[in-house]
Amino acid sequence: MADYEMVIGLEVHAELSTKSKIFCGCSTKFGGDVNTHVCEICSGMPGTLPTLNKRVVEYAIKAGTALNCEITRNNKFDRKNYFYPDLPKAYQVSQLYFPICRNGKVEIRTSKGTKFIGIHEIHMEEDAGKLVHDPFTEKTLVDYNRCGVPLIEIVSEPDFRSAEEVTAYLEKLQDTLRYLGVSDCKMQEGSMRADVNLSVRPVGTEKFGTRTEMKNIASLKAIARAIEYEYERQVDVIEAGGTITQETRRWDDEREMTYTMRSKENAQDYKYFPEPDLMPITISEEYLEEVRRNMPELADQKKERYMNELGLPEYDADIITGSTTLVRIFEKTAEICGNPKEASNWILTDLLKIVNDSGKPIDELDFRTESVGETIKLVSDGKINRKTGKQVLAKVVEENVIPSEYVEKNGLAQVSDLSAIEPVIREVLDANGKAVGEYLAGNEKNFQFLIGQSMRSLKGKADPQAVRATLQKLLDEMR
Ligand code: ADP
Ligand code: MG
Ligand code: ZN
Repeated sequence: MADYEMVIGLEVHAELSTKSKIFCGCSTKFGGDVNTHVCEICSGMPGTLPTLNKRVVEYAIKAGTALNCEITRNNKFDRKNYFYPDLPKAYQVSQLYFPICRNGKVEIRTSKGTKFIGIHEIHMEEDAGKLVHDPFTEKTLVDYNRCGVPLIEIVSEPDFRSAEEVTAYLEKLQDTLRYLGVSDCKMQEGSMRADVNLSVRPVGTEKFGTRTEMKNIASLKAIARAIEYEYERQVDVIEAGGTITQETRRWDDEREMTYTMRSKENAQDYKYFPEPDLMPITISEEYLEEVRRNMPELADQKKERYMNELGLPEYDADIITGSTTLVRIFEKTAEICGNPKEASNWILTDLLKIVNDSGKPIDELDFRTESVGETIKLVSDGKINRKTGKQVLAKVVEENVIPSEYVEKNGLAQVSDLSAIEPVIREVLDANGKAVGEYLAGNEKNFQFLIGQSMRSLKGKADPQAVRATLQKLLDEMR
């Protein structure tokens, strides 16, 4: 029995986070009441004309540049004709012949090391509406809010050989598009969707097998499960002497299996033709330069800079740059407390632990970014001690308190005023005559005990250094 290798190519759709749709002024906002973000253009009324949203071109170029693509200087739109109730015009405006980006590549990292995945092309297109199946009336309703939301479709080369590579690539795309601010890539809201094309071939052979396509799988975990299942299925079919049919299969995540949806359509079925209502797009050198100049720093560059310029260990830099939320918090915190390493320490040990305990993902927590740096600064300025700092940080995350106000209101400020500390320590010494006597007789260990008693009497708010110095002074006076 031969060993089989899986071969996978991905088509990833990402909704662009422009404010308005690709060809009209309607809002792209997710979750509005049904059919409220709709006009005569995006609902496909006859006689209306589209106007291209320039931002879409800008975002596509940014994505293409970050994914090392060539930018097509003269590109145009085409109509992809098909009938489906979520597509009121009965055609989708897309780019078949001259997609805006081509020939890119992206580096991924897996347990086997790093590898480049080729990007065949990126094209711009419009999204369709959404069919809503109502289980009670057994009717299907249509919501056109999503009609005309801009998409880029990122088509990879068939370069993946494992589910792990696919997951790493999708995470890398999410990171990159989020850094660029061009898409929020939320798979659960459908703003990022992946179609998985998969075939198998005996290890060591060149020729690709026949592929099947699994459309719109809703999460990274489900994609990995679908890949494993479909690989096994194809191998079983071939081993039993059968052949794979090129078709679209649906992944059922509950039953954990794929089943035939429709046999694969060909490009000619769509009767593609040039979109006559939109001018071809010419991208000038100046425009391209301008877009590139405004590209933000991406994860890999940022990581390098954190290590080389800010002196963070690779481990820290890796974790922080792995999340745009952590980057935002880290950069603000480092700026406020003036010490990047200190900022990273607090974030990786204290903040992440508090976030973890809260049971919510960090992106869903809603606290003032400045508060983290302000808390650290209260500690480094000696206003509160480190232990209090951790308490304050927890309140910041849980209740979004303002650190200085919270410290003030709850009387947490550290006592470093000697005139306040000294009388308390005198009382402690009076109350612990035995321990003091032993100390003076040479039992050094009792010093620590007396520090503990003093800190307790000062309710943990005293500056430990001031306590230590005062205690030493008073004991020395007794000798
Ligand atoms: P279509 O647009 O008709 O779906 P494409 O030829 O553009 O088809 O390919 C779509 C995706 O399928 C690409 O990501 C490509 O890499 C991948 N692909 C093509 N052939 C194979 C194959 N034999 N096995 C796995 N993936 C494939
Ligand atoms: Mg396809
Ligand atoms: Zn509209």
